[in-house]
Amino acid sequence: MDIYTKQRMKMVDSQIRSRGIRDERLLKAMELIPRHIFVDEGLADQAYNDNPLPIGEGQTISQPYMVALMTEALELKGGEKVLEIGTGSGYQSAILSKLADRVFSIEKIASLAGRARSILDLLGCFNVLTRVGDGSYGWRGEAPFDGIIVTAGAPDIPMPILEQLTIGGSLVIPVGSLSSQTLLRLTRLSEDIEDVKREDLGGCRFVSLIGEYGWGS
Ligand code: SAM
Repeated sequence: MDIYTKQRMKMVDSQIRSRGIRDERLLKAMELIPRHIFVDEGLADQAYNDNPLPIGEGQTISQPYMVALMTEALELKGGEKVLEIGTGSGYQSAILSKLADRVFSIEKIASLAGRARSILDLLGCFNVLTRVGDGSYGWRGEAPFDGIIVTAGAPDIPMPILEQLTIGGSLVIPVGSLSSQTLLRLTRLSEDIEDVKREDLGGCRFVSLIGEYGWGS
């Protein structure tokens, strides 16, 4: 077993399983996906630490536990169509690619999107479709989605995104101020866009969702 595989197994045990994540498919995906290749070579030895890391352009790859918490909240069984807003390094997309049928991921910063795409191709994650753009509009041409995950903090729930959920589908999103947010899960209950179940999954701190239905452009 190489050094990174050992670190990855330890990360899943000590940071993810021990904090109550129980979805076996998710735990397996996190044991499998080599997180260290999603960060710069100089940071590879920190890739399995219990914190976010810089990925350039002022952005971050999220803390492993946050990736696990948000992914588990989608309750994926394998046949779903999922939208991710904020591709960043591509790590979260790679995890989702193992758990859902198809993944659509939007990134605002072209250089990050290009780098993420190369890594996803290298790993054979061909069920992930990526594009550059303002994800606060969602991806109307591919909607509806069974699950939507927003990996940047928003001032409020972007309505176009909520509208792109299937009935029964869930949106997981950090909402709050620029410096701290609450992680929310909203489950759409009917055709009526106001008819949602809202659950608070705890406090968090994300980089900002920059866009029309985020913190402005
Ligand atoms: N999921 C990522 C990963 O696994 O590395 C972490 C993403 S990082 C915390 C948030 C990302 O959201 C950044 O790359 C940022 O450029 C992107 N972002 C911010 N606003 C956006 C928007 N309106 N549309 C798409 N991406 C956006």
